[in-house]
Amino acid sequence: MEIERQKLRVHAPLEQPKSPEELRARQLKARDMLRGDLTGEDLDNYVEERVATTTLEKVLNSARAHSIFPATFGLACCAIEMMSTVSPRYDIARFGAEAFRASPRQADLLILSGRVSIKMAPVVRRIYDQMLEPKWAISMGACSSSGGMFQNYAVVQGADKFMPIDVHVPGCPPRPEALIYGFTKLQQMIMGNADPGWRSRYNAHGTEEWARGGPASKPSEEALEAYAKAREVLGA
Ligand code: SF4
Repeated sequence: MEIERQKLRVHAPLEQPKSPEELRARQLKARDMLRGDLTGEDLDNYVEERVATTTLEKVLNSARAHSIFPATFGLACCAIEMMSTVSPRYDIARFGAEAFRASPRQADLLILSGRVSIKMAPVVRRIYDQMLEPKWAISMGACSSSGGMFQNYAVVQGADKFMPIDVHVPGCPPRPEALIYGFTKLQQMIMGNADPGWRSRYNAHGTEEWARGGPASKPSEEALEAYAKAREVLGA
């Protein structure tokens, strides 16, 4: 079968009416269309101006990204900030995620808000496993992302050691705005437009990572070697 591709939007996308008269003209045209009075080229133009095409996958992903149900689950101080995201001041409902679910079986986002103790890790993992696919996880705060200030035997040094994490939100605690920002990054990821890391965005190569001995200190041989490898990976 031969498929003929045609550019649909030959006309300019529909804009806001510029005057009440133009609005009225459009209303009359819409009325004609509903009555079946619009035919031929007029009808073609009318439809082409108002139809947007997309793929089923994109629609599904958009629906998923804008109707996330986070699990009602908090671990430590960060959870207080997480709770406030549903308050009117921050209002995460604007992004379609205000319905925190009390059961992991009804949730598709786990926000790890706080430090994860070694004892708690299997519990967290079980909750994550009980969630239905597709599911996502945000690691909120320094503690859940890296152990934070608790560099000891009782706290897991980074939640991605025992479960997959999609977005890390830095801070101690991150403000609700930071969590919402992380959440919007997750939405972009779900819709297939994951934000490139800051390295690719700013064309950075990791020079800020070497331990500085003073204002005039230079990176060690090992650090220079590591940067060279990083540049190779980034194709820079
Ligand atoms: S990152 Fe800070 S606020 Fe969050 S759990 Fe750790 S100590 Fe508490």
